[in-house]
Amino acid sequence: MSPVADSLSRPLRNLRLSVTDRCNLRCSYCMPEEHYVWLPKPNVLSFEEIVRVVDAFVALGVDEVRLTGGEPLLRSDLPVLVGMLAERRVLRDLAMTTNGVLLREHAAALRAAGLQRLTVSLDTLVPATFRRLARRDDLPRVLDGLEAARAAGFTELKIDTVVIAGENDDELAALLDFARGIGAELRFIEYMDVGGATQWTPQRVVSRASMLERLRASHGPIREIPRTDSAPAERFELRDGTRFGIIASVTKPFCATCDRSRLTADGMWFTCLYATHGTDLRELLRAGAGDDALRDCIRDGWRGRRDRGAEVRAGL
Ligand code: SAM
Ligand code: SF4
Ligand code: SF4
Repeated sequence: MSPVADSLSRPLRNLRLSVTDRCNLRCSYCMPEEHYVWLPKPNVLSFEEIVRVVDAFVALGVDEVRLTGGEPLLRSDLPVLVGMLAERRVLRDLAMTTNGVLLREHAAALRAAGLQRLTVSLDTLVPATFRRLARRDDLPRVLDGLEAARAAGFTELKIDTVVIAGENDDELAALLDFARGIGAELRFIEYMDVGGATQWTPQRVVSRASMLERLRASHGPIREIPRTDSAPAERFELRDGTRFGIIASVTKPFCATCDRSRLTADGMWFTCLYATHGTDLRELLRAGAGDDALRDCIRDGWRGRRDRGAEVRAGL
């Protein structure tokens, strides 16, 4: 079926599914303060509720689901949810983004349950920088988790690196070499002013152009790979065939083709990263709404969508 389109003709295709708000790291660009009030357990959607919502999205055109958080591996029995989602054959892509700390324990079970692709966030290879950025001493566990993921059969591994001026922007070349060494594709992400990024300033953003300039200096000529889809990452290739991506959310936003929305662990649906208002799908579910009503609510929400958060911020 053809996906429902929003008011700017963008299809609904991609759902970011947050399975928990909790995290075992405290990355300063995401969760800056030490004390958090986590969601009370009864407020978090059960697996059955999540699957009902996903089915409604799938009926409207979503064929890519990415599990995220907080840290998704903190959700108990996550492979059970993965198995329930993997049964939905129309889901072309079932992926997860994790900080990797608990991957050693869970990689094999996730793979066996049907998770197709894995992205691990890794901003630095320097233990002291990791400690400063993530406020925990877990770099060895993340590196070990990456190894476990490969051993479990995740061959399409990706590594996501948020680049922050003065923090890890001297490591672009080293991170690229590291990713190449383990057969993963690295994606550099421009630092965004979202969520808990309370220390964000424009000066701390390392632009796509600046990243490319630095990588040309370290690795020689870079070829841009022509786009074939609406994915946010632009992809590039080094002379030796190594591929990497850049997600230029700040300096080159991709709102014009944005087909993604986000469901929080407590069932709020947001149609843009920068959205301040969402739709409470949990309330609808728990009030006894049928599948039709759930679908209608999502369809209406998407049809009315006009979000262009990053473009608006960039003054485009
Ligand atoms: N905890 C998991 C992780 O870190 O991979 C999944 C959730 S995390 C919010 C998803 C991704 O968002 C991570 O790759 C993280 O680096 C990225 N992220 C968080 N805050 C960001 C910011 N201010 N700018 C750019 N990317 C950010
Ligand atoms: Fe946790 Fe991921 Fe945010 Fe870091 S980026 S604090 S690992 S949710
Ligand atoms: Fe999509 Fe909003 Fe990000 Fe633009 S800012 S790409 S509309 S999520």
